[in-house]
Amino acid sequence: MMNPFDLTGRTAIVTGANTGLGQSIAVALAGAGAAIVAVGRSAMDETESLCRASGSEFRSVQADLSSLDPIEGIVAEAAAVSGRVDILVNNAGIIRRADAIDFTEKDWDDVMNVNLKSTFFLSRAVARNMLADGGGGKIINIASLLSFQGGVRIPSYTASKSGLAGLTRLLACEWAAKGINVNAIAPGYFATNNTEALRNDPKRSGEILSRIPAGRWGEPSDLGGAAVFLASPAASYIHGVVLPVDGGWLAR
Ligand code: NAD
Repeated sequence: MMNPFDLTGRTAIVTGANTGLGQSIAVALAGAGAAIVAVGRSAMDETESLCRASGSEFRSVQADLSSLDPIEGIVAEAAAVSGRVDILVNNAGIIRRADAIDFTEKDWDDVMNVNLKSTFFLSRAVARNMLADGGGGKIINIASLLSFQGGVRIPSYTASKSGLAGLTRLLACEWAAKGINVNAIAPGYFATNNTEALRNDPKRSGEILSRIPAGRWGEPSDLGGAAVFLASPAASYIHGVVLPVDGGWLAR
């Protein structure tokens, strides 16, 4: 019987794959059989050895997604692996913390450029590749609990991740009938660089932990299954969802 989660023969771009959630997603997709094109600013050595351990093809592309300049090159490099791009995971993201009353234009623009603007234009470029041969594909955006909630001291991050949820739904509506599934994953509180400041603050860290029904922070490996699922044929009739992987936070 066909395994509906098998990604053998697919090529997946994962942005920000050198560390944290992006690395874990790349490893999970490789484990399901996909060739990985890992995109980011930093060295991908660790991600490469983890992905190759499952026998997967691996290519890394050095790119800074704070501008749109590298986007066409990323798609060209990925398409060279097997002729087309099948899966895009828009994971690269940054956060800046300050009270809204003091928040700077730079902290607004920097976050919006990586988290929302580059995500849209990379999705557009990849969708053009996916549509060129009519084969469709899967686009997965890494959203956040701040796609649903307000938070504090992270105005551009909340705006970007709430915008990303809307963008996920819009792209799903435009591209569903063309065979592209656009969905998002909303991670809860995961132990990565992104949350280091929170985890180092005993008061905030205690408040957060006490609200998570699962009783623990997420580990990056907790996210891989959702990414494989949304990237796979099993999710072919799923469009425009923002799937929380949050230890039950939003259920509370
Ligand atoms: P992280 O800081 O470890 O990883 C962020 C990744 O994005 C890194 O690989 C980094 O190199 C890359 N990146 C940042 N700016 C870039 C740029 N200009 N060009 C290219 N790559 C760039 O944090 P993480 O927690 O692994 O975050 C991954 C994604 O998950 C982000 O979009 C983040 O907003 C989201 N997220 C994280 C959590 C969490 O609890 N950790 C929760 C919700 C959402």
